Parts: sequence; structure tokens; C-alpha cells
Amino acid sequence: MTYVIGEPCIDIKDRSCVDVCPVDCIHEASRILVIDPEECIDCGACEPECPVEAIFPEDMLPEKWGEFTPINAAWNDGAEAVDALVERYAADQQLPPIEGQRV
Ligand code: SF4
Repeated sequence: MTYVIGEPCIDIKDRSCVDVCPVDCIHEASRILVIDPEECIDCGACEPECPVEAIFPEDMLPEKWGEFTPINAAWNDGAEAVDALVERYAADQQLPPIEGQRV
């Protein structure tokens, strides 16, 4: 199993999780942070650090955000692969505005 970063991270990227990850497996794409499932040791340290509650154990990820498992895993194909999937997801969804971040 691994941890997965979901929709609330898009256009927020607080990065608090990055500081606590013992194996540096949280990576930054253009609009989201992602967890490399091949590097994550499933320690759980990142989950409580996220101010927007975007991080879940894979088996606890809300069903509506199921696309984020492959979005995180796409890191192994490069940041551009993550970016392409996030752009497609954002185009398909009505993402709520975030003051100062997203209109
Ligand atoms: Fe890093 Fe642990 Fe979070 Fe995995 S669960 S991303 S190893 S802090």
C-alpha cells in the first residue's frame, strides 16, 4: 500500500508534508504534489501535516478521488505525465475557487 494525495492539493501545494517525509518521496508537479508509490514506506507521517486534508492511505481514498491513485503513480513517467492527467481532471471537474489561488 501507499499514501495518495488527492484533489484538495491542486493549486494549494502547501508542502508541509514534504518536510516530514523520511524518504523524500513527495514530489512537486505543476499544480499538485504527488507521492511516488514505489518509494513511499507507508509511515503515515505526512497525513496529519496536510492543512487541506488531501492525503489518504490508498485504501481510504474517497471514491470520488479514485483518479488520484494513477495521478500519483504517474510520477514514474515524469512530471509532465502528472501534469497532463491533472489538467484533464481539472477540465472534467468544476473545481471550486480558492481565494488567491484559483478562480
Ligand atoms: Fe512519505 Fe511516509 Fe507520507 Fe509515504 S506515508 S509519503 S513515506 S511521509
